[in-house]
Amino acid sequence: MERQERDFYQRDAEDQASFLEQTWCNNCQQVDLGMKDPVEYELDGVIMIEGKCKKCGESVTTELADEDDDSEWID
Ligand SMILES: [Zn+2]
Repeated sequence: MERQERDFYQRDAEDQASFLEQTWCNNCQQVDLGMKDPVEYELDGVIMIEGKCKKCGESVTTELADEDDDSEWID
């Protein structure tokens, strides 16, 4: 599997904020605890954002379903 690094900070501030807030932590078993130190990459065509849970510090990953579909961000 090939992992391709992307630049999370190229996203606009609003996107960044929502990705950092909308998380699922496997360790805490809770949503929206937030993450820090985000790293964005693409793996087999899927965009992933990986960071650390703000509560417990464990690794959390957000998977973006479809990057080409911008509709939810427009209007
Ligand atoms: Zn956690």
